[in-house]
Amino acid sequence: MPEGPEIWRAADKLSDAIAGKEIEEVFFAFDELKPFEQQLTGLKIDSITPRGKAIVTAFGNNLNLYSHNQLYGKWMISKNGSEPDTNRSLRVAIHTSDSSAFLYSASEIEILKDDEVEQHSYIKKLGPDVVHPETTYEEVLKRYQSSTFKNRKLSTLLLDQGFLSGLGNYLRSEILFCSGVDPEFRPKDCSEEQIEALAENSLELSQRSYKTGGLTTPDDLVKALKEEGASRKQYRHYTYGRAGKPCYKCGKEIMVMETGGRKIYYCKTEQKSMN
Ligand SMILES: [Zn+2]
Repeated sequence: MPEGPEIWRAADKLSDAIAGKEIEEVFFAFDELKPFEQQLTGLKIDSITPRGKAIVTAFGNNLNLYSHNQLYGKWMISKNGSEPDTNRSLRVAIHTSDSSAFLYSASEIEILKDDEVEQHSYIKKLGPDVVHPETTYEEVLKRYQSSTFKNRKLSTLLLDQGFLSGLGNYLRSEILFCSGVDPEFRPKDCSEEQIEALAENSLELSQRSYKTGGLTTPDDLVKALKEEGASRKQYRHYTYGRAGKPCYKCGKEIMVMETGGRKIYYCKTEQKSMN
């Protein structure tokens, strides 16, 4: 499933293609949404905003399209109105004079009034968004220190969108590694320094990944690794996807374990109490 940085980039692309332009035609595959095809035609899209792993498209006129892609949903854009060549099933199409946006395979699609957006069962449970430029370090730090979350294992907490929204599998491994924290720890097992590092890295690594198109490693390391001929899989992250390869900090082997059916990568040396 895409993580916050990927959702934000998808929303940016959609925004560049169709925001601010007059809608010439709308298509909804689901019967209950058909009546909105006419209502949305002629409006302009005000904004396209990621909300956790969902996207809210605001049409003005008190109408918003909520879409959550789950595992298989995908937005695609075309310049001339022609439908992309794909076997996926089309759920939504929005055509403007020069660009069209197509949503495929997503199953959670709703039209919400303005005051229903924040009350939506998925949106109202979301924690602060790690990619959002207005999310502050203090806000995230408080989350880690809060009695609601501090007794939960970080390996599961970091995937809970109600804790911080936008984190997922690769960000989880990278945040724990860069903060030097054992994935089996709960926030209450961490030192104050580790908690501060977790809060800082939750924001920094997510925003770096958003800006760079998926990298969590710093520029100088990426440059050095590229010069050595490393593949993208090897230079884009410190630990994620690199089981058995040498750690970029200590040279020891990166380890992998499964928690809840999802892999977490770590270095025993950096993430101290691991054994
Ligand atoms: Zn290491």
